[in-house]
Amino acid sequence: MGEKIKNMDIKDIQKMQKEFDLEYFPKFWELNTVEDFMNSLKHVAIGLAGEVGEFSNLVKKLDRRIMNLGGEVNEEYLKKLRNEVTDIFIYVLIAANLLEMNLDDAFLKKLKYNRERFQEFRDNG
Ligand SMILES: [Mg+2]
Repeated sequence: MGEKIKNMDIKDIQKMQKEFDLEYFPKFWELNTVEDFMNSLKHVAIGLAGEVGEFSNLVKKLDRRIMNLGGEVNEEYLKKLRNEVTDIFIYVLIAANLLEMNLDDAFLKKLKYNRERFQEFRDNG
């Protein structure tokens, strides 16, 4: 780990996250019963919501600060925000692994769907 891996795609990233989770949180992947699955699903839902909350809280604090004191979105805040986006991404990877989905395929399908869905905004915008 730590080395730069070239030509990595989302499948590789999902696999790396799963390997990490199997190593550090093996119980998460002991899915022998529906209760096991639901426990892991709840764990990932709470984790994801928590990280979205951390991100939102930073946005709230940044907004409050700028509204009251003025100033810019400084590098310190950008760093914190990027850090929370990374945490969110990790939980999305874990959720996708648990649900046995390929995020790249799902993304491409959804992008196509959204292109069709939002076409009217583009035409009228
Ligand atoms: Mg966080």
